[in-house]
Amino acid sequence: VCTPGFEEVDARRDWDAIVIGAGPAGAVSALLLARAGWRVLLVERSAWPREKACGGCLSASCVASLRSIGLHDVLARATRVTSSHVHSGRRSARLPIDDGFAIDRTQFDAELVDRFVRAGGTFVDHASATLLTDTKGDHRTVRVQRGEVVEEHRASLALAADGLAGLSIATEPWAQWSIARDAYLGAATTLDDFAVDPGEIHMHVGTGGYVGAVKYDDGRVHLAAALNPTTCRDAGGPGVLMESILRSCGQDVSLTGRRLRGSPTLTRERLQLGGHRVLCVGDACGYVEPFTGEGIAWAVRSAIDVTRLVANGWSADLPGAWRELRDASLRRKQDICRVVRRAARSPLAMRLGIDLLRALPSLSRIVTSASTPTASAA
Ligand SMILES: Cc1cc2nc3c(=O)[nH]c(=O)nc-3n(C[C@H](O)[C@H](O)[C@H](O)COP(=O)(O)OP(=O)(O)OC[C@H]3O[C@@H](n4cnc5c(N)ncnc54)[C@H](O)[C@@H]3O)c2cc1C
Repeated sequence: VCTPGFEEVDARRDWDAIVIGAGPAGAVSALLLARAGWRVLLVERSAWPREKACGGCLSASCVASLRSIGLHDVLARATRVTSSHVHSGRRSARLPIDDGFAIDRTQFDAELVDRFVRAGGTFVDHASATLLTDTKGDHRTVRVQRGEVVEEHRASLALAADGLAGLSIATEPWAQWSIARDAYLGAATTLDDFAVDPGEIHMHVGTGGYVGAVKYDDGRVHLAAALNPTTCRDAGGPGVLMESILRSCGQDVSLTGRRLRGSPTLTRERLQLGGHRVLCVGDACGYVEPFTGEGIAWAVRSAIDVTRLVANGWSADLPGAWRELRDASLRRKQDICRVVRRAARSPLAMRLGIDLLRALPSLSRIVTSASTPTASAA
């Protein structure tokens, strides 16, 4: 990935769009705008390339979205996933997956940013962006801080793609989160020595959360978990709780000394998705656990939708129109995730579900086709 020195960015302070956050929502939005001839600055807080707490599983709908914008080749090093195995206690059931993939997020996100830079966009990493409170006129100002250096950049449009933990639009009065009272935390780590076959996702459901496991093309196994914050604290931390959930499903693994990546509470929503010349994209709009391979799909889908919406420039009705468009595009899938989320919290419900799937194997096709055009899980 080509990252310009800050001095190169410094030469230009006026942009058509400034995109905050270089995850899939930000990178794909920035890429699509750059392809349309916009002068785009993409700002990323982390040193690039960065790691992200994520299972890296891509659903068929995500793959279809990537194909639709000519980005299918970013999956060249992804592993094709053909089945998902749900475990609760000693029971397990297999669900088929069509056109699913697993990919290391460091690699995936870096590929997307690379496409953006090759399309003529300007990328600056290790720089934190904050939207200033200039809510009138034909631009928004974004304060960009890289080390000791602070600059103000202006753009006709700002896109906040800063994920669940981002604070870039914290001072916007409309941008408050509504967080589910029982929201779980995310945690992830990578192991070399965990028994999982390539092409399979294994979801282990236990008391206090669930842990997904998938193998990447380099042989490493990625564990991604959603954990009850109280159980997590009582157990002595996310690593200990993940071990105990895996053990309850017959997987003995030690995570002592492993570096875990975490996320804030997952299930949350912004009731408004934009204000004057600023719109949210991806997780910055909201997220619903579990990770059914949909988070990245929603990020890519919302990047495609939002860039179409703003194609003709700014108008005051865009924040409302964006809310409606996003609801129409994602609400059904997010509602399904809410149901799965409730089931995944009860090991007993999971066991009953597994027994049902084992007794009626044809149900598994119906379950997978109900959740996405073809579904996956992480
Ligand atoms: C444990 C876990 C497992 C998951 N597993 C899966 C899975 O298997 N499949 C799936 O589809 N989804 C999964 N998800 C969800 C998925 O990771 C997210 O939905 C997806 O990353 C959203 O993309 P995004 O671009 O909106 O945000 P992000 O990927 O979070 O990107 C936001 C970026 O903004 C940057 N940023 C933040 N603040 C600033 C700032 N002020 N200035 C500049 N940059 C900033 C951050 O550094 C980050 O790089 C998982 C999530 C978790 C927590």
